[in-house]
Amino acid sequence: MRLLTFKGGVHPPGKKELAREQKIQIFPIPKTVYVFLSNHAGAPAKCVVKQEDRVKTGQIIGEPSGFISAYVHSPLTGVVKSIEKIYHPVHGKPMEAVVIEQTDNEEEWELLERKVWESSSKEEILEIIKKAGIVGLGGAMFPTHVKLSPPPEKRIDTLIINGAECEPYLTIDYRLMLENAEEMLQGILITMKVLSVKEAHVGIESNKMDAVQHLRKVFKNTPIKVHALKTKYPQGAEKQLIHAITKRKVPAGGLPMDVGVVVQNVGTIIAIKKAVVDGMPLVERGLTVTGEAITKPFNAIVRIGTPISQLLEAGGITEDAERVILGGPMMGIAVNRLETPVLKGTSGITALRASKPWEEKPCIRCGKCITACPMGLEPYLLNLLSSKKRYDDAVNNGLLNCIECGSCAYNCPSKIDHVRSIKLAKKVYLALRGGKK
Ligand code: SF4
Ligand code: SF4
Repeated sequence: MRLLTFKGGVHPPGKKELAREQKIQIFPIPKTVYVFLSNHAGAPAKCVVKQEDRVKTGQIIGEPSGFISAYVHSPLTGVVKSIEKIYHPVHGKPMEAVVIEQTDNEEEWELLERKVWESSSKEEILEIIKKAGIVGLGGAMFPTHVKLSPPPEKRIDTLIINGAECEPYLTIDYRLMLENAEEMLQGILITMKVLSVKEAHVGIESNKMDAVQHLRKVFKNTPIKVHALKTKYPQGAEKQLIHAITKRKVPAGGLPMDVGVVVQNVGTIIAIKKAVVDGMPLVERGLTVTGEAITKPFNAIVRIGTPISQLLEAGGITEDAERVILGGPMMGIAVNRLETPVLKGTSGITALRASKPWEEKPCIRCGKCITACPMGLEPYLLNLLSSKKRYDDAVNNGLLNCIECGSCAYNCPSKIDHVRSIKLAKKVYLALRGGKK
């Protein structure tokens, strides 16, 4: 069997066996949730509730405050205890969050307006997706209604569903593909209608062949093709996935829509189905709790705003746990505050035991970082230019094309953490130049 793939990349141990057999469970609704108004890429939502307000599950608590922004809903039925600034793991600074405490009353839902999508217009469906506060659940948290509204000059002909789940340890998308395939089918058909595309493709790494076979069976006689991809990191990065499936190359600095493609994650597609068909706003998401420092790894549907301490406790975190990561070890964010709440983009929580100390040594010019880079960059050079604050030179050498996948650092025998300096250089450059060369 020929497996589709891309150039570059690395083969970190998958570690999927820790949680892959664990069926998705419904995690208990926590007593208190901490819901960031910045639960998406773009401008934070504007708070529309105040302290002491009673809220239903699904009620809007934040409204979009710009073109790239999203609605935020209450994940439980209760009372707004406070609106306060708490540390945001993605932004790395305190940001406004609505703290909601559960009341003893039965859960009451405020659902979205429901429509028969087959006879609804694209605009009506897009409005439901927007009202549901759906964002990219793969981690980027880009508002989905914006992604599904490309400018008219960008002709979209292909929808790709990212089922690669190439990040080590994580298994939630795998479980969703096995357990929620019918919902996925409806979500894909709805999204195809919104984009007016005639074909859709699902890309899944070859370490999940049972999911490939299962979806091929469920999607039989539909315009959806399921592809087995080589198991290689970062197979699920948008540009690599698009190239593997369509052979189209997204230009440097460009977007998937520049080559007629829109990519959606498995969880996002199911959230679209739940919003449009069931009227459910995005108040929960699937995630994996896993890692060597977790004694009972699991996959679960969890309310947004649940403190990760409760998930780690349920997973039986060991005393020798050294690192807790939101997401997986390659692209995730290490957190040291265990009260950090689940965000819309939290695909997993990985707890790891102590590893050997990270001792950076001088570069030996071996070129292994270049071989690993899926974007065809020279990571050692970007690292050098970034650390010397030569940001313009770094940009001229492709700094802004780096997808921060960490393949270079993984492959480097001198344990040089290129990503740290690259990320910082990008931030400084964009702050200084506003993204303009
Ligand atoms: S330079 Fe960027 S894109 Fe290339 S391997 Fe390193 S992190 Fe990934
Ligand atoms: S892999 Fe590491 S040691 Fe080798 S060239 Fe790149 S930065 Fe230098």
